[in-house]
Order: sequence, then C-alpha cells, then structure tokens
Amino acid sequence: MNKVIIIRWGELHLKGKNRGIFEKMLEDNIKNSLSGLDFTFKKISGRYLIENFNEYDVDDFISRLKKVGGVYSVSVALAVKSQVELITCACLETIKDKEGTFKVETNRADKKFEMPSVDFSRQLGGKILKAYPHLKVDVHSPDFTVHVDIRESGYTLVYTDVIMMMGGMPSGSSGKGLLLISGGIDSPVAGYLMAKRGMKLEALHFHSYPYTSESAKEKVVDLAKMVGAYTGGIKLHVITLTEIQEEIHKNCPEEYMITLMRRFMMKIAEIIAKNNGLQALITGESLGQVASQTIESITSSGSVVTLPVLRPLIAFDKIDIIKIAEQIETYETSILPYEDCCTVFLPKHPLIKPNLKRVMQEESNLNVELLIENALSSEEIIEL
Ligand code: ATP
Ligand code: MG
Repeated sequence: MNKVIIIRWGELHLKGKNRGIFEKMLEDNIKNSLSGLDFTFKKISGRYLIENFNEYDVDDFISRLKKVGGVYSVSVALAVKSQVELITCACLETIKDKEGTFKVETNRADKKFEMPSVDFSRQLGGKILKAYPHLKVDVHSPDFTVHVDIRESGYTLVYTDVIMMMGGMPSGSSGKGLLLISGGIDSPVAGYLMAKRGMKLEALHFHSYPYTSESAKEKVVDLAKMVGAYTGGIKLHVITLTEIQEEIHKNCPEEYMITLMRRFMMKIAEIIAKNNGLQALITGESLGQVASQTIESITSSGSVVTLPVLRPLIAFDKIDIIKIAEQIETYETSILPYEDCCTVFLPKHPLIKPNLKRVMQEESNLNVELLIENALSSEEIIEL
C-alpha cells in the first residue's frame, strides 16, 4: 500500500490543439514549485500522481501546490493493486479515524475489473460496516465519501478528501504583465487574480523617499514576494516619484495632485513594461472606490498609455477584495500602517471628475519628459 498525491487540473481541457503545451507548462510549474522535496512524478490519464515522497512532507506538498495556477484539486490517496482484498484493506485504512455517515463511490476506468461499480461500492460498504459498526451509510448526504478509483493500468486509488486548490491556468500561459503594486489591500489581490489566469508578472512600486519610509518599501517588498509565490518568483521595479510630486505641488493647483501623479505613474509603467517585454499594465482599481477611481479619473490616467490596462477588481466590492486578501494571506501585511506615496501632498479636495482638457493644460506646466527620465534613472530592481 503506497501513499500518493493525486493532482487534478481544471480548465486545460478547453485548450484544444494547444493542450499539450499547456500541460507541459503545468507540469514544469508543479515540478518547480516542489523543488527540494523528494518525490517521483507520473502522468496518468487526466491527472498527475506524486509518489515516493516522505509522509511528513505531505502538508508542505499541499501548501506549495495551492500556489500553482491550473491545479484544481488534490487528494492524498492510498494506491494498491486492483484486487478486491487489497482495495478493501485500503478503504479500511483510509477511514480508520472517521466518524459519522459515509458512502462508497467507485469509478471503474478499467472495465476489465470483475465487478460493476455500483455492485462493488455496495460490497465495500458492507465490509466497512462490518469492520466499523459505529459508522452508518447515507448515500444522499454523507459526512464523507470513500472514493475508489480503479485505473486502467491495474491499480486502484482510494481516498476520502478532495482539497480544492487555486484553479485557473498555468503561470506563463497567458502572457506577461506589469503589476502596479502599492502597499494597499487591492493591488496584491489584483496581481493574484491575473496570476491565477496564467499571467506571468513583474511588479512596479513608486515610493516618495524621504516622505515615505524604508519600512513602507519593505512592506511592498513583502507583498510582492507573496504575489510572486503564484508566478514562480517576481521582479520588483522601484521608482522614486518624489521629484514629480514636488514639481506638481509647486506648479499646479492642489486638487490636480493625484490626477497628474497617476498619469505619470501610468506613463512610467508603460515604459518599464515595454522595456521588459511585458504586454499589459495591471492595477487594483475598483470603480468608484475613491476619487481617483471614478470613470473620469480612470479615463484620465488610462488615456496616456497604449498598452492594455487590466483592472481585475474593477467591479469588486471592497468586502469581497478583503476576502481574497485574507485567503491569500496578504491582508495582514497590507493593513500595516505605513505611509504611501499617494498620501504625500494629499489634496483636501481631489478632483472627482477631472476634465481631460484641463488636466492636459495643467500638465503642460511641467517638463514631463525630463521628469520621467529622472524618475526612470532612479529605478531599483529587486529579484524576489
Ligand atoms: P491599493 O489598495 O492597491 O493601494 P487603493 O484603493 O489604495 O489601491 P489607489 O491609491 O487609488 O487605490 O491606487 C489605485 C491603484 O494604483 C492601485 O491598486 C495600484 O495598482 C496603483 N498604485 C497606487 N499607488 C501605487 C504605488 N505607490 N506604486 C505603484 N502602484 C500604485
Ligand atoms: Mg493604495
């Protein structure tokens, strides 16, 4: 009797002719995520099997697989030869600590196996009741299900629990994007959602040293690392925005600070994206959440770039964003109380519905090209 981990994938079957490429990506991503652990890897029809691992590593396997896009669910199973005696033993072993009601569900991929699935399930149910009289059968809503998966190649997998994973698509299967990451709650969630759809990520953060502190930057490094865990690592670009903010502060009406600053951010982001072969910009914007996220503000900041701007949270309520932040464990870090560059020179009354023409007029008071060049020369790159 061998312990194995069954890995199931989700949407890859939609990919028609490209399926082979997707499967190869998923396989490589799984292997990379498990590097350093001892195991052997096998592909069987429709799933992967991890074998020959140390039992005390099981939790580590599962927590690493939780961060691999494209992995839909995982089960820890017992594998035995497809003989009735051995399968029965595996069932009894698998549920030895269980309480309550159960049903047995047999899947017979191997039609040569001697008994039809329904009959075999019934027979196993009888043997389980005999061995564990405290259990009861409930075929409609059991407390647990004993899955018996009789495979074509002469062995059977027995398990009870199906652990849901992140689903989505393999990292790298949907191009590459640049995540504009702040220290807030939203942008790490936006990055995670795009990573889940298979996008490889790099990240860009603007800070306003000395108005913002080293700890504020460290917090963003931590958040970027957490997002990077879903994309097999991440490169973080850090740019100093201080001069740009000071110039806006000096030369433009106070209420234009955020509107103009966001246009600079997008322009700089696009240059960095293009220089690094990235195909899209990603922000954590959510419609109407704050003054800088009204449709007029989004139009103003989005109109300075030609790359697509992906805003996966555009229609999310904050409460739902927070739920995902908690689930991916970025929330606790995001709420640490450090200042953000957007809070420096914060106007009392930011523009809610900026008029594009007026915005461009104000912008023409600044030496935009020079300011962007200076900002780009402040770039620091951190590989995470
Ligand atoms: P978040 O929770 O992601 O900080 P927010 O609700 O604070 O978002 P804004 O401050 O308006 O909203 O920022 C909107 C988006 O702009 C962010 O989600 C992020 O993508 C980008 N952004 C904001 N500040 C920065 C920054 N300092 N560096 C890089 N990107 C930023
Ligand atoms: Mg923010």
